[in-house]
Amino acid sequence: MTKFVYTFGGKTAEGKADMKNLLGGKGANLAEMCLLGLPVPAGLTITTECCTAYYENGCQLPAGLMDEVWKGVANVEKIMGMKYDDAENPLLVSCRSGARSSMPGMMDTVLNIGLSSKTIPGMLKKTNNPRFVYDSYRRLIMMYADVVMEKSEGIEPADGKGIRKQLDDMLDAYKEEHGYKSDTDLTADDLQKLAEDFKRKVKEVLGTEFPDDAKAQMEGGIKAVFKSWNGKKAVSYRKIEGIPDDWGTAVNVQAMVFGNMGDTSATGVAFTRNPATGDNQFYGEWLINAQGEDVVAGIRTPNPLNDDTKNEQNKHMHSMQELMPETYKELCEIRTILEKNYHDMLDIEFTIQDGKLYMLQCRVGKRTGVAALTMAMDMLKEGLIDESEVVMRISPAQLDELLHPILDSSDEKKHEVLAKGLPAGPGGAVGVIALTSEKAKEYQAAGIKNILVREETNPEDVEGMRAADGILTARGGMTSHAALVARGWGKCCIVGCDAVKIEMERTSVSTNEYGKKKVNVEEIGTVTIGGKVFHEGDLLSLNGSKGWVYDEEVKMINATENPLFQQFMKLVDKFRKMGVRTNADNPEDAQKAIDFGAEGIGLFRIEHMFYGENSEVPLEKLRNMILADTLEARKAALAELEPYVRESAKGTLKVMDGKPLTFRLMDPPLHEFVPQTEEKQREVAKARGLDFEKLHARIEGMHEVNPMMGLRGVRLGIIYPEITEMQFRALFSATVELMKEGFHPQLEIMVPLTINAAELKHQKALANRVKEEVEAKYGTKFNYKFGTMIEIPRAALVANQIAEVAEFFSFGTNDLTQMTFGFSRDDVNAIVKTYVDEKIIPADPFNNFDRECVGELVKIGIERGRATRPELKCGVCGEHGGDPTAAEFFYKNGMTYVSCSPFRVPVARLAAAQAAIKEAREK
Ligand code: ADP
Ligand code: MG
Ligand code: MG
Repeated sequence: MTKFVYTFGGKTAEGKADMKNLLGGKGANLAEMCLLGLPVPAGLTITTECCTAYYENGCQLPAGLMDEVWKGVANVEKIMGMKYDDAENPLLVSCRSGARSSMPGMMDTVLNIGLSSKTIPGMLKKTNNPRFVYDSYRRLIMMYADVVMEKSEGIEPADGKGIRKQLDDMLDAYKEEHGYKSDTDLTADDLQKLAEDFKRKVKEVLGTEFPDDAKAQMEGGIKAVFKSWNGKKAVSYRKIEGIPDDWGTAVNVQAMVFGNMGDTSATGVAFTRNPATGDNQFYGEWLINAQGEDVVAGIRTPNPLNDDTKNEQNKHMHSMQELMPETYKELCEIRTILEKNYHDMLDIEFTIQDGKLYMLQCRVGKRTGVAALTMAMDMLKEGLIDESEVVMRISPAQLDELLHPILDSSDEKKHEVLAKGLPAGPGGAVGVIALTSEKAKEYQAAGIKNILVREETNPEDVEGMRAADGILTARGGMTSHAALVARGWGKCCIVGCDAVKIEMERTSVSTNEYGKKKVNVEEIGTVTIGGKVFHEGDLLSLNGSKGWVYDEEVKMINATENPLFQQFMKLVDKFRKMGVRTNADNPEDAQKAIDFGAEGIGLFRIEHMFYGENSEVPLEKLRNMILADTLEARKAALAELEPYVRESAKGTLKVMDGKPLTFRLMDPPLHEFVPQTEEKQREVAKARGLDFEKLHARIEGMHEVNPMMGLRGVRLGIIYPEITEMQFRALFSATVELMKEGFHPQLEIMVPLTINAAELKHQKALANRVKEEVEAKYGTKFNYKFGTMIEIPRAALVANQIAEVAEFFSFGTNDLTQMTFGFSRDDVNAIVKTYVDEKIIPADPFNNFDRECVGELVKIGIERGRATRPELKCGVCGEHGGDPTAAEFFYKNGMTYVSCSPFRVPVARLAAAQAAIKEAREK
């Protein structure tokens, strides 16, 4: 029989850190901490395999599981010296979720399981603290009713009608009735009475009794955690993070320790280094006399852990360093042990029960891109990690974040800071206020930059946080939900900004310390910041690295000047083997790409000179050529166009001096360059003194039903050889002229949309003739490379023949994807969205390279091409060239280089280096 339960506790464990797939991150790390001899309350982990079995079983626990669990519980009892469901000396447990990769707050946890009319007397006698016992009891009823009896049963009450909210309202009403201000005013008698009221309410609303049986509670808790894997917010989080649905969660059943037993008890969260800046300082927050998620929930602003954690908001509050120096010292020692063991920054949860410290969780901490960079470079110096590990430590997304804009500090000085909060997520953001997640999503859909402003965020807000460009919250500390999630995404975020007051009409204000239930998001309101009133749609600027808020538009700039960034990129290139080029069609972009480390241009689209700035004159000439109705007229127009193409080529070749530059012959259907509306056509006709009817008929005649599969690419050059000829002449002349000026142009020309070798031979013959003419004219010989794009499946299949003519291949993965799937890139969006939602395809193949088939064609293309021409250079242009997840595939299959937009160049370099390191490690 499969082993489903792994125990931990008493400095030993059946699991360890590298068993995350089976035990989930939380379970594996709890086991590891036990093995390190750290104080961890004993417990057991039910495997992720069991979760899979549970779902395969139609949501039934596998037979025999509970027997295994009870055996594990017996082990916990032995270590803890207490007994579950015992009248004298009862053990309480928590039932905690924990997937392979952390999903903060997305799944459910129930605390204080095991309290019943049978065990309460024992607890009372044991603790002599009735207030604590009944407080724990009413919390259990609340959490259990919410998580186990409502959510996991699939009951979806109307907004504000959930059981937790109803119980919370009862608590508020009770407090009001008795003139209490805070939860702590409630006496033991009050709480006991409330617990009874709660149970009645649960029965009334949900129709079932809260189970007064510890054994039933245990089974209910385990099932509910499994169920929470498919809870709404967990599913949407997985989608955003790309976590597979079939991984499943583990369940950890762990002996309870109590941070809510009085003033010598506490609970806290810490990072072994500053997760926002990367500074090597212990960084955390704690609350005295609190339990569970009180710190993370952002209900009250937590106290700083130590001096290093103090800031404007909390400097007047006592730190653990001050109040519990001995325990703080012990925690510092644990910090060192953990970093030495994991060679990384960790995020930890701890609880102090009556002066004794317990570790409840550790995991590799999320961090901003800047922090990742700083920590990795520091850890290299400290000898914790080696150079290759430094390169592996920064994800392509984090590097991308470093390239993202921040507020321009010189412009920032010109504006007055409106309010200050905690710098929870890096970078800058400028956008309009959204007060609800719904609104943020709406703005994003409309392409409007927006800032989500909330009292605090909770897991229900994840999609809105994603949609927002920046996040601002009134409450919460550096480890609050908003801060954790924003940092994970590298999103600009400010939390704990006291000056923010949101006015939403609410029936009651929750003081629920678990923080799962929040304000009613349907109600729209206003926000007052530092005395000024704002509405949705008003503009704010955020400096997430400092925590400063402005109500004016501040300019944004880039963050790559950081010298650490430069040092890091040097290390990257030390390990990188695959080349990185850029897609650029003008000197400015080319220069930008070189600054970012591009080694050449993989795609220069000649037609780009006919779009945008300074394109009027050449576009005019191109139109003359297109509208010409005789060969002679067309040739004359082309002769006028040639100098423009030549000068455009020269400008970029000059910047790229000594580096290869691949020009692609004109690719798009020509009708894209002539006006389509009657009004515009009349204008053009008038300007040229042409007959409108004739012009109109000519343009109509160019109409194609399927232009993407019509007269474009190499087909243009075969139907109208004079068009290709002009391009060859312009590029060759540009090259020779630059050589004469002392430059070293490395000219490469590629033919788009090829289907066979004959097409290439046709174009090559033209090229040969023009080359001789140009060489004769200038009296200088020159070299260039003649290649092709591989972007139609047929071309990949006959790559061996094509390579007889082509000296290099460039895989155009956009068209190749389009032609392989038969998906029109321009029309298929809605279809792809449904396909992804219905799991008919795993992802949008235009964003996520399809290794299975498009990848197979690339592989075949390279193999067959090199069978003919072993030294054949192969590159990728198109969006996937900059996709870090595809880089490994391209590298493994022998791609010479990838080419991407200038801003993606550093990311592509990193992805290529990581692919090489991974390969070396596999060997
Ligand atoms: P999450 O994955 O959402 O962080 P956790 O399982 O870590 O959920 O639990 C939520 C909170 O309850 C955490 O603050 C954790 O420290 C606390 N907690 C969990 N189990 C125990 C326990 N056995 N004793 C005391 N506190 C616990
Ligand atoms: Mg946790
Ligand atoms: Mg193409």
